[in-house]
Amino acid sequence: MNITQPIGETLALIGNTPLVRLTGPSEAAGCDIWGKCEFANPGSSVKDRAALYMIRDAEARGELKPGGTVIEGTAGNTGIGIALVANALGYKTIIVMPDNQSKEKMDTLRALGAKLVLVPPTKYADPCHFQHVSRRMAEETEGAIWAGQFDNTANRKAHIEGTTEELWEQTGGKIDGFTCAAGTGGTIAGVGMGLKEKNANIRIALTDPHGAALYNYYAHGELKGEGSSVAEGIGQGRITANLEGAPIDTQFRISDEEGMIWVERLLREEGLCLGLSSGINVAGAIELGKQLVSEGRDNPQVATILCDTGFRYLSTLYNAEWLGAKGLPVFDWLAHEGDA
Ligand code: PMP
Repeated sequence: MNITQPIGETLALIGNTPLVRLTGPSEAAGCDIWGKCEFANPGSSVKDRAALYMIRDAEARGELKPGGTVIEGTAGNTGIGIALVANALGYKTIIVMPDNQSKEKMDTLRALGAKLVLVPPTKYADPCHFQHVSRRMAEETEGAIWAGQFDNTANRKAHIEGTTEELWEQTGGKIDGFTCAAGTGGTIAGVGMGLKEKNANIRIALTDPHGAALYNYYAHGELKGEGSSVAEGIGQGRITANLEGAPIDTQFRISDEEGMIWVERLLREEGLCLGLSSGINVAGAIELGKQLVSEGRDNPQVATILCDTGFRYLSTLYNAEWLGAKGLPVFDWLAHEGDA
């Protein structure tokens, strides 16, 4: 870990997150499974990294000027990262978000001082999709830039230069596999490209939730989704610019139920309160670990991303009524709340 950063620079707190060995998942896989603690970023998610890189890139290109506004369409976490970075650098923030995302994310964005615009969820081809609404808003707002995280490759650069280097250092270069799910694809593509550059033998796997189109794309060459997922921040239906050229060797499809098993176990057994994309990532990492073990790789080390804090989903993933309504199993201690 880099401990030589100057004291007092808040933006230097982004990245350099811890890497932890996950006991239950390692036992399940039969090899070491490591989780990169992205919830330890100041905005409590992996997206602080992309926010910082996209804003710094817009400054470097001369597009974002002092006092300007950063506008973005996001499932929430990127917006939170942007709001924090923008505050630290004196910019204003406008966030366009689908209204089916967690209330905690909306409250957080408002608390950070971002202007929040909620739009109904709709398909990407619809001009009212949150990404298009945010882009048009940026075009029409004086002094504003559109971050455009899906097709802005400053996003994946944050993972090539940051996340990859940290993983390499933290594992002492002994890493055999990496997997995570894709929202923009910045993390999987960036870490995938970065690690392949270091060692082409490192297996890069996409872990896709149900409902997303990438599993079929990498498995059969066809962008096609099946089923659905309540996981926020992941589940992509197209090849974004960030995903172009991503070195995906293999792919897994993980259900919400499977992801929730790990959300529950990581909380109960290891004291980690995480969002569902982290649970899905961990389930994918176990699949990847098993695959490498079955091929006889010596002592495989597999890493994945613990994307955000579960405190962002208290009204959803950690709420018995919500879980019941979605047909997901309710954790024991939530189901028995109020008994005693
Ligand atoms: N998990 C969560 C909770 C997220 O908010 C995001 C970002 N949308 C991701 C995973 C996926 O990250 P990326 O955009 O780098 O693919």
